Amino acid sequence: MIPSCPACHSGNVERCHYGRRIGGGVGTVAGAISGAAGASVGAFEGAQLGRSLLSFGGSPVAASGAVLGAISGGLIGCLAGLQLGAVVDEEVLCHHRCNDCSTHF
Ligand SMILES: [Zn+2]
Repeated sequence: MIPSCPACHSGNVERCHYGRRIGGGVGTVAGAISGAAGASVGAFEGAQLGRSLLSFGGSPVAASGAVLGAISGGLIGCLAGLQLGAVVDEEVLCHHRCNDCSTHF
């Protein structure tokens, strides 16, 4: 149940999820970057191996590996960030915001 505002006693109050929003955003970006970087290194080594064995240019493979890594890394990072943000919401930040006087409580 959502309580009423302690400042103006309005019932026009909503839960705020700042930690979850920020955590999800930061987690997505961080996960995408690390996923792309990790996949690039792996794909680069694979491409070099492929080039030396077959004289086959591996750049399309490396590019798609980086994209896939970024997508999967972003997804994992987003989920981790959401969970971390939910904890921060509950433990640290204000839980509610009044829509009438903008008080956080
Ligand atoms: Zn209020």
